[in-house]
Amino acid sequence: MASILTDRHGRFHDYLRISLTDACNLRCQYCMPVEDMHFMNRSELMTVDELDTLAGLFVRHGVRKIRLTGGEPLVRKEAAEIIERLGRYPVTLAITTNGVLVDRFVDVFQRVGLRSVNVSLDSLDPTVNQMITRRDHLQIVVEQIEQLVARGFHVKVNMVVMKGVNEFEVGDFVAWSKDLPLHIRFIEYMPFDGNGWSSAQVTTHQQILELLEDRFVFDKLQDGPNDTARAYRVKGYRGTFAVISTMSQPFCETCNRIRLTADGKLKNCLFSSGETDLLTALRAGQDVESLIRDTLLAKHARLGGQLADDYHLTDPDTLQNRSMIAIGG
Ligand code: SAM
Ligand code: SF4
Repeated sequence: MASILTDRHGRFHDYLRISLTDACNLRCQYCMPVEDMHFMNRSELMTVDELDTLAGLFVRHGVRKIRLTGGEPLVRKEAAEIIERLGRYPVTLAITTNGVLVDRFVDVFQRVGLRSVNVSLDSLDPTVNQMITRRDHLQIVVEQIEQLVARGFHVKVNMVVMKGVNEFEVGDFVAWSKDLPLHIRFIEYMPFDGNGWSSAQVTTHQQILELLEDRFVFDKLQDGPNDTARAYRVKGYRGTFAVISTMSQPFCETCNRIRLTADGKLKNCLFSSGETDLLTALRAGQDVESLIRDTLLAKHARLGGQLADDYHLTDPDTLQNRSMIAIGG
């Protein structure tokens, strides 16, 4: 019998991203609406036990990788307890964080065997960084990244590339990976509720490579079967760089990801308009597994059935989705 995690297009979903909270200590303009941001009440969030129960259910059905995200996962009061609880499962546990609070959690990461940490950082220029995040934490984040590397973690640095904002810094990020085994990932700017996206602000995979070609000689690396990032290495560099080209070259055919929001809703795609309320069903003692199966069966072949294949034709005003901060990136 097919797993409840297989969709109509034959894709098996063994990678679950769980949002711990929609709260955050930064205010990145591409991630959260400038106005009318409504944060969840605590009673709306999955409790630690509920989150653990749902995670365990997914693991029993074949999930092999769990990434914790948010909002900022490390601002959740019970973050350490959640990491310890999920660390018991036979999965690869990973986290995406803005890095500000990382040093408080390094010991717990090591204790549970969480080895892979993605840290978001969009500019190495203090003024630009402050403009994007609306906070002043650049130096702390750079230090945390370098400490994670020094302690042997596999560290990816996520940079959302925005035209006219930070695109000319891509070379500086790559240069950072010369002597440090850092994995820089350039992410094409994506549309979400209230983030003011327009297609003109997207710097594409091809344009990022062109920005780098003048300064570096690099080779294409072999990508894994479900990788969303296309990876490269500059000759002689310890680190690598990669591009996540969701807008210009989507990778839906090999998608193996599903998302559980902090309030217990299952999304079968980052861009799905629909979501399934697993938490209310769990609290009412209802059959959660059949809801999961139906959610997977409703998954569209590409881009949540909402975005145009040619991203220039996507009208952000017609999209029905949450903001990224409330989904869990
Ligand atoms: N707070 C954590 C962080 O910043 O890494 C985790 C949550 S954040 C929503 C997860 C990732 O989504 C970050 O790497 C962030 O840069 C990315 N992201 C948010 N909004 C985005 C957008 N509009 N387009 C592309 N990536 C986005
Ligand atoms: Fe917070 Fe991460 Fe969104 Fe920035 S990208 S506002 S750090 S959740």
